Amino acid sequence: MRELFDKTQWIRDQFPVLKRKVHGHPLVYLDNGATTQKPQSVIDRVTRFLSEEYSTVHRGVYLMSQESTEFCETVRSTIARFVNARRPEEVIFTSGTTAAINLAATALGKSVVTPGGEIVITQMEHHANIVPWQQVALATGATLKIAPIMPDGSVDLEAFERTLTPKTQIVAFPHISNVLGTVNPVAQMTAMAKTVGAIVVVDGAQGIAHHPVDVQAMGCDFYCFSAHKMYGPTGVGVLVGRYDLMDQLPPVQFGGDMIETVTFEKSTFAKLPAKFEAGTPPITEIIGMGAAVEFIESIGWNYILGHDQAILNYALAGLETIPGIQLIGTAPGKSAIISFVMDGVHPHDVGTILDMEGVAVRVGHHCAQPLMGVYDVPATIRASFSVYNTESDADGLLSALQKVRHYFQ
Ligand code: PMP
Repeated sequence: MRELFDKTQWIRDQFPVLKRKVHGHPLVYLDNGATTQKPQSVIDRVTRFLSEEYSTVHRGVYLMSQESTEFCETVRSTIARFVNARRPEEVIFTSGTTAAINLAATALGKSVVTPGGEIVITQMEHHANIVPWQQVALATGATLKIAPIMPDGSVDLEAFERTLTPKTQIVAFPHISNVLGTVNPVAQMTAMAKTVGAIVVVDGAQGIAHHPVDVQAMGCDFYCFSAHKMYGPTGVGVLVGRYDLMDQLPPVQFGGDMIETVTFEKSTFAKLPAKFEAGTPPITEIIGMGAAVEFIESIGWNYILGHDQAILNYALAGLETIPGIQLIGTAPGKSAIISFVMDGVHPHDVGTILDMEGVAVRVGHHCAQPLMGVYDVPATIRASFSVYNTESDADGLLSALQKVRHYFQ
């Protein structure tokens, strides 16, 4: 345990923003579920590209453009290795998780989903994994079915299995819940979905920085994530998809870079991955995302998983000492995302008081309004931890919560 937290200090030193003060207090940044801070290596890589190497990709006969193209294609290969995709062409650059899910949903909605078909999601979804499927259901005449969760925030696997029928065409669920911290058994749920022949889409927004991802072992058809939640820049993310399936799907956005030939009468489309990457990609951000993957690999999954559980247990033990706290999401093996409500205090008041103490947490519905309904709360307070959070961050949270308790006796 001690060793874990010593390494945390070494990691922490790589994040310049963590040295700042907020309202006169050292920053305690616990909104990592929303977005993570950036290490110096990512900042430096982006700065170097913008100041010394910047140019467009694909179209250039000149050296700098060829270099930019190579940088981006190297990142594609790095990501393919990082998630164990079968080949780099299975990695589609998008603007983030939301765009990746929308891309998959729109392409599947145009080609796979039929009237009378069924799309299954769970009660724990982020809006990004609800609304696109609602739109597909509306456009196609398919039905959206919701698999329930248990009181502890794990998917009720028996009920999930009963939700699946021969009519199920798509099954979509998160790797890790952004509210509950539940780590779903992705391979098991995918195997269940495959018994009815469904296509499986995994929302990996929270999974990607917290757990090793192996899309082949998971067996899923699509895995979606954003760079900004894994120490990389905003504005870029990835749709990882099975090549043979994506090869059959129609393109969703049309324009430059995604074509093979264009006449005024007719166009033909490029092969993967270009088919799904219309327009100039977020070049700078893709390159920054590559540095973010290198950062994660420099820390290693052993450390990340060990630290996640250690900081979770430390914070949970502390929360037990504060009266009137109700945890939302207590599934075994959960990740270090702690949602809770406090008796007699509105979450927004808690958030405001914590901010005055320099503690940044998220309060609200966390883009999961239906899940708030399941737990019958309007909002929660969410402290989400990352590799750079220390025991002293958890102590900062706890002492600020003691103050809240004191004000609202
Ligand atoms: N799904 C989950 C589980 C998330 O936590 C988030 C981000 N809060 C998203 C999807 C959407 O990610 P982005 O806003 O980066 O597109």
